[in-house]
Amino acid sequence: MSNAIAKEPDRPSVAIIGAGICGLGIGWRLAAAGCRVDVFERGAAGREASWAAAGMLAAQVETEPGEEALLALNLESQAAWPAFARVLEAASGIDLGYRGEGTLVVAAHRDDAAELRHTYEFHRSLGLDMTWLTGGQARRLEPHLAPAVSAAVLSEKDHQVDNRQLVLALQAAFSRAGGTLHEHTAVEAVDVAAGRARGVQVDGRAVAADMVLLAAGAWSYDIDGLPPAARPPVRPLKGQMLSLRMDPRAPIMDHVLWGPGIYIVPRRDGTLILGATVEDKGFDRDLTAGGIHRLLEAAWEILPQIEELPIEEMWVGVRPTSRDDAPILGPTPIEGLVVATGHHRNGVLLAPLTIDAVSAFVLDGSLSPAIAPFGIGRFHAQGATLAAGGGE
Ligand SMILES: Cc1cc2nc3c(=O)[nH]c(=O)nc-3n(C[C@H](O)[C@H](O)[C@H](O)COP(=O)(O)OP(=O)(O)OC[C@H]3O[C@@H](n4cnc5c(N)ncnc54)[C@H](O)[C@@H]3O)c2cc1C
Repeated sequence: MSNAIAKEPDRPSVAIIGAGICGLGIGWRLAAAGCRVDVFERGAAGREASWAAAGMLAAQVETEPGEEALLALNLESQAAWPAFARVLEAASGIDLGYRGEGTLVVAAHRDDAAELRHTYEFHRSLGLDMTWLTGGQARRLEPHLAPAVSAAVLSEKDHQVDNRQLVLALQAAFSRAGGTLHEHTAVEAVDVAAGRARGVQVDGRAVAADMVLLAAGAWSYDIDGLPPAARPPVRPLKGQMLSLRMDPRAPIMDHVLWGPGIYIVPRRDGTLILGATVEDKGFDRDLTAGGIHRLLEAAWEILPQIEELPIEEMWVGVRPTSRDDAPILGPTPIEGLVVATGHHRNGVLLAPLTIDAVSAFVLDGSLSPAIAPFGIGRFHAQGATLAAGGGE
């Protein structure tokens, strides 16, 4: 590993900490713009939250009261997804498995319908594009829904993408653009001198860079060398998931499905993803009988047809969750140190916007109005709060 040198004289050299969606995506864009980019990844690229996710682009269905600022960000990124997918597919040669059937939120029983109606009215009051369906209408869209499903809401804009394909595509596009990926290479610290980031410490050695991007997901708080005001307040939020296998020639459903305590995401290759628990248990990686049991029971209640499907995989991921559940994007009080983390349950959804806005800041210092309210400074400005977010 040599000290970084800019590929083009007017472009900064950039050291990126973390090869998840954020690090690889921003790295791709910067390398394509002529920067010398080194991405350092502690493990294998993209195998943490970005691999564990369900890939839902669910800006609408889980919006809760008080989330207006985050909703605008989520909607902007959602609208950018189709064009982003086309550009990335062309740059990588990898199909992202983008699916546009939309999302159905169902009431499992008559009792749940009143609550669903209440949420629907709230979403409509925000101008979201949702359609109320009777149980019968929902079953016409998804014939295997349980007979007890009494009502549903169709959100046609909440699509999905195969997040594992997304990781592979970002990695390929990054390499094709000339970026250098260092796997199994943890960054120990950011080098800071006279209030400016000078590079990173790797294997006890200094690697110089003009700019440093901190994109270490749930671990972003733990990188040494930074003063408190530059450490993003991010913690891990555990999620257990599993997948079943459908016959891809005869899938039992096509829409993304939400029910009480569960979402179900059908991939084109027949994978059916069931998720996810939300547990504040630090970096605990245990799959538990209770967690998996609750997911299977909740899924079975709205889609009994899963009964005969083989279980394919079970896994645990840790969401990078900030103190207010919203992402932390852009500059820090340390000159030359930029952050892209804290995406909580929406990192796949927010990929296009994060990649565009953070790359633009690194390249020319311009701060997009979309991300301006989501800077690290909000945690230090007195009384400043942002709305807590939903997602996933
Ligand atoms: C169960 C689950 C379901 C989800 N479902 C969805 C969904 O449906 N839709 C959606 O939009 N979002 C979803 N998310 C959220 C989404 O996965 C994350 O917000 C997103 O992947 C975060 O990307 P990242 O690049 O910030 O983090 P990560 O993918 O975690 O990448 C960070 C990387 O940094 C590396 N790293 C850490 N420390 C160091 C170090 N010191 N040196 C070098 N490398 C380091 C890690 O090894 C890791 O690879 C889900 C998350 C989980 C866990």
